Amino acid sequence: MEAPATSPGSLTRLCVKCRSQEATLESRTQPVCKDCFLKFISSKCIKHLGALGRLTRPPPPSLTRHYTLALSLGPSSTALLHLLHTNLTYSLTKNRAPPFHLQVVHITNDSTTPLPPADPLTPLRPLYPSFTFLLLPLSTSLSLPTIDFSALPPSGPTSSPPALRLRTLLAGLPSAASRADVLRLLTRHLLLHAAREARSQALLFGHSTTALAELTLSEAAKGRGFGVPWVVSDGAEPEGGVVVSHPLREVLRGEVVRYGGLVEPKLLVLEEEVEAKGGAVVSHRDLSIDEVMRRYFGEVEERYPAVVANVARTTGKLVRMLGGGGEGGRCGVCGTPLDGEGDERWRGELGVEGGGGTGEEAEGGGGGARLCYGCERSTRG
Ligand SMILES: [Zn+2]
Ligand SMILES: [Zn+2]
Repeated sequence: MEAPATSPGSLTRLCVKCRSQEATLESRTQPVCKDCFLKFISSKCIKHLGALGRLTRPPPPSLTRHYTLALSLGPSSTALLHLLHTNLTYSLTKNRAPPFHLQVVHITNDSTTPLPPADPLTPLRPLYPSFTFLLLPLSTSLSLPTIDFSALPPSGPTSSPPALRLRTLLAGLPSAASRADVLRLLTRHLLLHAAREARSQALLFGHSTTALAELTLSEAAKGRGFGVPWVVSDGAEPEGGVVVSHPLREVLRGEVVRYGGLVEPKLLVLEEEVEAKGGAVVSHRDLSIDEVMRRYFGEVEERYPAVVANVARTTGKLVRMLGGGGEGGRCGVCGTPLDGEGDERWRGELGVEGGGGTGEEAEGGGGGARLCYGCERSTRG
């Protein structure tokens, strides 16, 4: 037993980790000091970065790995940006080779923001000078070969400005929920593209345990249960070899937010959490599945952190399956491998609403894009 640095008698509560400083916080039901809390969060992140390092190899001429960080500017991805910076700085002060080069990508939804948007990355660049920052308008996703646009509503003539074409496409979707869904998918495609373009070996997301649990259940509820492991577990994409990684997967959302407020200087979080913006009571009929899940886990996280952790951990272990010997193929919109029989199962259990029919009824003879049940439902209503 180590002797405490300060007399314990003068402290109201001793930190259970270092046993020398006063516990000013409660972390997973244990009283801890601020330093130990910050160390706890960064150790969770470093552990996953170590695993990622073993999963990836630097491209031959280079000795350094190249990673891309998806930065939404919210608390989680901003915390991850800071943790990566701290990790890199630490290696450099120890005269070690940099463990990675980092490209930070932020995607703006230019279908709603008038162009030219002010560069939201400007205040961050001087804070993280060793990283490369890239701002991409979401409308650039319209030219990606990885998306089958024949399955989505028409976006108008290619001579129109891309932002307008994106707006037209989104307006053609049947509901606000399906617009939110397609926006998320386009963003993910564009991030993977940016990672490949920069020859990154990995694409990092800031998702917390809570965010992954929400994503798991909302994707399953939308009928993409089969694709869930591709979205929430860590590993290589079916093609292109980019490893998708979630280094904060063992940190709860509340902990990420607390970390951002305690670290010095305080983190510059440029976008609040969506839920923080509207505390107003909205009818659940108007909420997308994503929002319902967000509210649900927001309430569960505080009282039952183990439940949230279990949802994310179990899914992290699910096996990624390729659609059996090539007959499955890939969904033209979300890109996850198709499960021929499985999609029939989802269809049977969730029921097909409205006039939305089978894939063969795709309008405009678009070559019959093959979609998973979730995307079919999202794009055709
Ligand atoms: Zn401590
Ligand atoms: Zn799909």
